[in-house]
Amino acid sequence: MKRILVTGGAGFIGSHLCKRLLDEGNEVICLDNYFTGSKENIIPLMDNPYFELIRHDVTIPFMIEVDEIYNLACPASPVHYQYNSIKTIKTSVMGAINMLGLAKRVKAKVLQASTSEVYGDPEIHPQPESYWGNVNPIGPRSCYDEGKRCAETLFMDYHHQNNVDVKIVRIFNTYGPNMNPDDGRVVSNFIMQALKGEDITIFGDGHQTRSFQYVDDLVEGMMRLMSTENFTGPVNIGNQNEFTMLELAEVILELTGSSSKLVFRDLPRDDPKQRQPDTSLAKKHLDGWEPKIELREGLAHTIAYFEKHLQGKNGYRRT
Ligand code: NAD
Ligand code: UDP
Repeated sequence: MKRILVTGGAGFIGSHLCKRLLDEGNEVICLDNYFTGSKENIIPLMDNPYFELIRHDVTIPFMIEVDEIYNLACPASPVHYQYNSIKTIKTSVMGAINMLGLAKRVKAKVLQASTSEVYGDPEIHPQPESYWGNVNPIGPRSCYDEGKRCAETLFMDYHHQNNVDVKIVRIFNTYGPNMNPDDGRVVSNFIMQALKGEDITIFGDGHQTRSFQYVDDLVEGMMRLMSTENFTGPVNIGNQNEFTMLELAEVILELTGSSSKLVFRDLPRDDPKQRQPDTSLAKKHLDGWEPKIELREGLAHTIAYFEKHLQGKNGYRRT
């Protein structure tokens, strides 16, 4: 049995990761400040005696004896990470320093949840890990993009200078149950709007693209990365099937049977025009990893989750 720390464990991805790690017989310590996460996401895990929950902010050092650290703490939705941009960059940079310092001291493996946003508004398509990106360093998305880029630098520097066993995963747009319904990201927005019969808000002309992966595929990829020997990444984990926001809206309308209308809103500044992962490195180094759950299937699970939420049947989740 390994003892594993998951920062940001009460968030959307973190809660799925904690569950998988417990299911595989590990002891899990979830650390979160509940900025965007919620206790409701992890209440189903609380009965497990090998699960521990700690309210803590990663910008403050934290001491514990663990074998592995998954560093996920950071708001991920543009609405939330721009709410307090200074705090966002502190979370990425100081959180990375604190988790790397801890990993160095207790000789733990440490995995950083990085992002496709390190590629910015990419000029190369699809994006391989060798692409250095096209990021505006002073725009509204910079606190997140540059914070994550700096965290990657810190991870590689601790690896080279202090021999820390690091792993970096570049996560592409991920969706699934436990997303915060008020998160502001496109999948949760469109599903909630469709279910409530409200207008579907398309930003810009809706021709910008994203490649959406279901959370279970990501968790599998992250755990495979953690178990690798002599491989640090960065490695892209994402689904290669690319959709315009108009296509996404159409599928969601069809699956929900909703008659919501599409309305067009201004495109946020620096919104990337396209995004698709090149996943050949993941396939090569992560034991043939590839996504298994396609959009319609993943959306059906997610819609069912949000339906329950609206009916007040998601356990303790409050609106
Ligand atoms: P989320 O907002 O649901 O989860 C983030 C969690 O971190 C929340 O529980 C939040 O309360 C916690 N947190 C934030 N700041 C903290 C701090 N200072 N100290 C302690 N905890 C803090 O988002 P998510 O989608 O689950 O994302 C998890 C990670 O994956 C993030 O690092 C994000 O950047 C990365 N990522 C996510 C996506 C995606 O599509 N979901 C894509 C790329 C990268
Ligand atoms: N988007 C949209 N309507 C919404 C929310 C988002 O059209 O209600 C668009 C947004 O402009 C972007 C895409 O959907 O082009 C994905 O946005 P999200 O915030 O989910 O993720 P990110 O931009 O970080 O990939």
